[in-house]
Parts: sequence; structure tokens; C-alpha cells
Amino acid sequence: MSAADILVIGGGIAGLSAAARLSPHAKVIVLEAEEQIGFHSSGRSATMLHYALGDRLIRELTLASRPFFDDPPEHFDAIGYRMPVLVHARDDERDALDALYADIAPFAKLERLDAAGVHALCPLLRDDARHGIADLDGLRLDPHALLQGNLRQLRSRGGELRTGMRIERIERGVSSWTATSESGERFAAPLLVNAAGAWADRVAALAGLAPLGLEPKRRTIITFDAPAGASLDGLPFTKTVGDELYFAPESGRLFASPMDEVPSDPCDAQPDEYEVALAASRMGERTIVEVRRIHSKWAGLRSFTPDRHPAVGFWPDCDGFFWLAGQGGAGLQTSPAIAEIVESLIAGTPWPVGDVDAAELSPGRFFRQTA
Ligand SMILES: Cc1cc2nc3c(=O)[nH]c(=O)nc-3n(C[C@H](O)[C@H](O)[C@H](O)COP(=O)(O)OP(=O)(O)OC[C@H]3O[C@@H](n4cnc5c(N)ncnc54)[C@H](O)[C@@H]3O)c2cc1C
Repeated sequence: MSAADILVIGGGIAGLSAAARLSPHAKVIVLEAEEQIGFHSSGRSATMLHYALGDRLIRELTLASRPFFDDPPEHFDAIGYRMPVLVHARDDERDALDALYADIAPFAKLERLDAAGVHALCPLLRDDARHGIADLDGLRLDPHALLQGNLRQLRSRGGELRTGMRIERIERGVSSWTATSESGERFAAPLLVNAAGAWADRVAALAGLAPLGLEPKRRTIITFDAPAGASLDGLPFTKTVGDELYFAPESGRLFASPMDEVPSDPCDAQPDEYEVALAASRMGERTIVEVRRIHSKWAGLRSFTPDRHPAVGFWPDCDGFFWLAGQGGAGLQTSPAIAEIVESLIAGTPWPVGDVDAAELSPGRFFRQTA
């Protein structure tokens, strides 16, 4: 039996970033089912930090995370580089763009673009993209560097990662939890952090606790060649104002997503031919790019709570069970602030995000008394 102060179930960005922050305060062991970290959602994302995602709460958490990305701490290599973000609209989508501008303006320095400005920034768009807002200070993140940096920080402080440890049994003792892996290894600690991504409700069930009602939703990405002669230098992450399509340069090619949200069980998500074809056809509708051959494709799960806000905090009426789940489509860009919030709630450090209230994140908002 391995003993620790805190067991973290899940070696994605949520579990590793929280574990790294907790490790100066306690002996932390991260238990990851797969042989490698970031195998599921954290390794399959679009890797952007931008404010056209989510609502005020997500934007506050993103803004609070930004200094970490701009000036990474010790143990982190460069974890991002500048990439402009362009949100564009046709004439009939103008009202939605105005509303989005008002929502984002408190968080980022935005430029409003007319048709000429939109096409100067992204010459690949069709002529009907006549209105735009641009954040020239967007960040493309490097999830590998982010995961490895957190892991190095965790280890430098005495924390441990155990991969290949799929937890299949959780028992609650008088003052501690015991988690047992498929292979029979046992781990004990007074505090259990459930950072199991799409599987977080299943992990709660192993512990005999009620689910939050998490909904994993599949999202698909394809990569393909840019048109011959097109320059990818300076091309922005380019998104329709509605949730229809985004694309961006990717290692000398382009990547695109039809921004699908297909309900899924927790699993090793695979791209479905329908969404792959949808991505290609929407590129044809919104841009001058014809997708002739798909170079690669993948899918991942974005897991949402019923109100689409993360659940971060202790479960009421259950000592030592901490939820860290439901980061939806913003789990990378909010990970530094959320990890600091975890540290504050568990280790008692000062509350780090003034404009966010702990109650907004508390899983207690989903707790139903069954007495
Ligand atoms: C296509 C796509 C695009 C995205 N784009 C962006 C973006 O641009 N910006 C952004 O910020 N975010 C984006 N996201 C969202 C982001 O990837 C997620 O919010 C984030 O990765 C969630 O991290 P996580 O650690 O909770 O989940 P995961 O990375 O899935 O980690 C959970 C881990 O728990 C492990 N686990 C589960 N059950 C057990 C068990 N019983 N025992 C042990 N281990 C277990 C799993 O193996 C898994 O590794 C995107 C996601 C997708 C899919």
C-alpha cells in the first residue's frame, strides 16, 4: 500500500496542474489510467487561449491564467506563442458579433474590423465575411510543454505520478480513502481529488457518491493542406461568430473543426465520418479553401456540468472528496487559475481570482439532499 496526503485521480492537465500546486503543502500521488499523461482530452485540443469561448466565468478564469502563460514559472519551457484571434460575421450575423464584442471587451484589447480589415488579416475567408473582431494578443498553447512543466514541478517537490493505474475500486475508511487499481495496487490518503475528466462521474460512483451529471461531448479536428501558394505566416485562429467552424495554421498545414458537440460516453473518442465531412464542407462554405485530402483527424471529449461551469471544490457531506471536473472546452486555458483555486481551497492559500466566487465553482450547487 502506498500512502500519501492527497491522491489525484487523472493525469490530464486538470490533475497535473492541481497536483503541482498542492505538492509544496502535502505528499501528492497522481494516478493515471493510461501509460502516458494527456492521452485523452488534454492531448487532443485546439490548444488556443481566447475569449470567444464560454461566458464571464470562463473569461475571468482565462484572464487570471494569462500571466502564468506569459511568464511561465521554473520547470516550464515556453508554453505558448502569439497567434491572433479573428471572429468574423456575415451581414446577417452582425448583431451576434456586436454582442460578443461587448462580452469580450472587458477582457481583451479588441479591434473592430470592416470587410477590408477581415480579409487583410485572413485572406482565406469568402467575401461574405464582412465584419470582424480581432484580438491580436491571442495565444496558441503547447499542451505537451504545459503537461511536462507541471509534471517536472510536481516531481521537484516530492510528488509522484503513477501511470497505468486505472482505479477500479475506492473505499472510504474512518479518516482515509483507499483506491485500488486494476492491477491490484493500493493507494491511501485522507484526501481524494477527482480529476478524471470525462470519467469523473464514474470515479464518484466508485466512491459510492452521486454523480454531478457530467456530459462528455465529442469534438472533431481535421488537418489538410493549405491552397498552393497561400502564406500561413501570421494567419489567425479564425472562428465564425456562431459555433460553426474554426480553423488555424498547424505545422505547415491547416486544421479545422466543425465545432461539434456530440454527446458521448466516456471513451477513447474517435472521429466520426459525418463530422469529418462537415468540417471539410464548412471550410468550403466559409473559405476559399477546398479540402482535397485530409492529412489527419482526431476527436476528443469536452465534458460539461449541467450549467457548463467547472466543478471545483469539496463534495458536501463527504469528508475529503474533492471535485475537479467539467472544464468543458477551456480546460487548458483556465488550468493555471483553477489549479491555484484548488490550492486555496485545500491548502488555505489566499483566494487567487478576485472576480470569481468559490460558490460559482462549488460542486455543492449540484448536490441534492437525499435524506
Ligand atoms: C477538440 C478539442 C478542442 C479543445 N480546444 C481547447 C482549446 O482551444 N483551449 C482550451 O483551453 N481547451 C480546449 N479543449 C478542452 C480541454 O482539452 C479540456 O478541458 C481539458 O483537457 C480537460 O482536462 P482534464 O484533465 O479534465 O481531462 P483529461 O485530459 O481527459 O484527463 C483525465 C484523465 O483521467 C484519467 N482517468 C479517468 N478515469 C480514471 C481512473 N479510473 N483511474 C485513473 N485515471 C483515470 C484519464 O485516463 C485521463 O487521462 C478542447 C478539447 C477538445 C476535445
